[in-house]
Amino acid sequence: MKNFLIFFSFLLIFSACEQKNEQKINERASINNQKSKKNNFGIILHGGAGTILKEHMSDSLEVAYKEILEKAIRTGYEILENNGSSLEAIAATIKIMEDSPLFNAGKGAVFTHHDTNELDASVMVGNTQDAGAISGVTRIKNPIDLAIKVMTDSPHVMLSGEGAEQFASEKGIELVDPSYFFTENRFKSLQRIKDSEKTELDHDGKTALVSPGQNDSKFGTVGAAALDKHGNLAAGTSTGGMTNKKWNRIGDAPIIGAGTYANNATCAVSSTGWGEFFIRAVVAHDISALMEYKGLTLKEASEEVIQKKVPSLGETAVLLPLTKRAIW
Ligand code: ASP
Repeated sequence: MKNFLIFFSFLLIFSACEQKNEQKINERASINNQKSKKNNFGIILHGGAGTILKEHMSDSLEVAYKEILEKAIRTGYEILENNGSSLEAIAATIKIMEDSPLFNAGKGAVFTHHDTNELDASVMVGNTQDAGAISGVTRIKNPIDLAIKVMTDSPHVMLSGEGAEQFASEKGIELVDPSYFFTENRFKSLQRIKDSEKTELDHDGKTALVSPGQNDSKFGTVGAAALDKHGNLAAGTSTGGMTNKKWNRIGDAPIIGAGTYANNATCAVSSTGWGEFFIRAVVAHDISALMEYKGLTLKEASEEVIQKKVPSLGETAVLLPLTKRAIW
């Protein structure tokens, strides 16, 4: 019995030691984890698809673009550095670009065929996979704010048009007169496209539409994806869509899974490019799904979608994917 007791107490001590060791290891692991989480945060942004040729970009315009992009990314980064959430970071980053006339989102939104501006935006967070989106709004100063409100303060994921604006005014989101969105450059772009439509009509008598991917119709959509110190991903996208769009056309930007997607288990994505292709290829979710179900890395999954899937439908893809380990 004595032997048994000694053995038993040895076992207890051993197991206590083991527990202590385990506790120490766990403590160390959690400190390391916290340390690595503290250092493992980041934000990326985009200001739209398309190639702006050097000859179309004056030095002063280039400086202006760089200034806004830098201000936007620094603002988001500082939020993350100060322990803010990835959602707060992408919202602040996107809002800075929405407030600039340089980007096709918010203030600088492109014109529809009917000389109006219709804005789309969406947001998604990776921990709960909550999402919010709005489409076809004409009076919302910062569409990304409204997309977030839809996510946090409504039972829905997507609201559109007048209903979305009514929700916005009930929730204290800033509304502006539609004339706020008038910018000379965007209006001229619309006239150029309308003129080329006329030329085509004169030419063959039947082509009434210029492809929305042509010319300067797809520059400047904005988006961001971030990882915060708590390990949460978020992504958001905001756009005026494509110049000369008709019939209340809605692009990919407000479509969860096409324009925006976030999942803590995989990645956060914001897309820009010709929306019709992005909707058909469900690009943002596809990248996540390839990672989740096939175990591909972010790079492999993005290559699959950008270099194979979207081109197989006839368009080139531009995406901004971010994962906890890598930006591709
Ligand atoms: N994806 C946007 C849309 O189709 C346009 C863009 O990204 O430039 O509405």
